[in-house]
Amino acid sequence: MPHRRRVRCCRAQTVMTMNIDLHTHSKCSDGLLSPAELVERAVANGTGMLALTDHDMVKGVAPARTACESAGIRFVPGVEISITWGGRSIHIVGLQVDESNAAFVKTLDDNRAGRVERAKEISRRLALQGIDGAYEYISERVFDPIIISRKHFSRFLVEKEICPDTTEAFDRFLKRGRPAYVFHKWMTLEESIHCIREAGGISVVAHPGRYDISETALFALFDEFKALGGVGIEVVTGSHSPDKYAYFARLARRYGFLASAGSDFHAPYEGYIDVGRLPPLPQNLTPIWHDWF
Ligand code: AMP
Ligand code: MN
Ligand code: MN
Ligand code: MN
Repeated sequence: MPHRRRVRCCRAQTVMTMNIDLHTHSKCSDGLLSPAELVERAVANGTGMLALTDHDMVKGVAPARTACESAGIRFVPGVEISITWGGRSIHIVGLQVDESNAAFVKTLDDNRAGRVERAKEISRRLALQGIDGAYEYISERVFDPIIISRKHFSRFLVEKEICPDTTEAFDRFLKRGRPAYVFHKWMTLEESIHCIREAGGISVVAHPGRYDISETALFALFDEFKALGGVGIEVVTGSHSPDKYAYFARLARRYGFLASAGSDFHAPYEGYIDVGRLPPLPQNLTPIWHDWF
């Protein structure tokens, strides 16, 4: 049984419990389930409120909302935007965004532009390591090459039995400093917060414990994020070990950030936490959903 977290339901003036998962992917980006299949799994796992946060893409939002409505669970339209900050890739989650906002969709389209060329370059670098045909293999299977991420390459390396799991694929080939890593310039932190706000949403730093940066750099990121109007950080995520929950809970309190929770679910048997199966937020935090009821 997943842990339940307490949510105050203002309308009914009662306290109810609900499983909340505010960071998930569908095959509209680099997940493996369709939005409807993702919702079905979330419901089976007891999720009461679900956000779909595909990378730089909101195509799955409408079908996910429809599926949540028919299943009778709450839906949060979201996105996970790739940004470049301090020469590194950081992810900013936007929650409660309006997916029909044309300027927002265009900004996301522009951010994705370049993924095909980057994927071809990653493939070329893998070929230099003696691993051929990655781009062709992936693009034949993905629904649109403009969404190819390193996750697809990691699955290719597993399917070709070059790596035993996707984590090793990142460690050996795909992460920064490895032979098939290709730098990509995404939008800026400021642009991401701005476009999320223009689409009616709020910004959250995704899995802050996953970036390979010093504490000084992390604090600089949080300072800048806050100054630009960012409101939340993920405290409980599939990318954080439990000791990081406490660390980021302390930082959320210190910075006055709202606390978010999301599995970062991509596919069954991938990652550490299934959709809707998160442990509760640590005490004395203001959840990002505190005024959504
Ligand atoms: P990209 O947007 O192409 O840079 O790919 C980033 C995606 O790769 C993320 O959304 C994660 O799904 C995945 N990813 C990044 N780093 C790792 C890692 N160290 N282990 C497993 N998956 C990762
Ligand atoms: Mn991903
Ligand atoms: Mn991410
Ligand atoms: Mn994610």
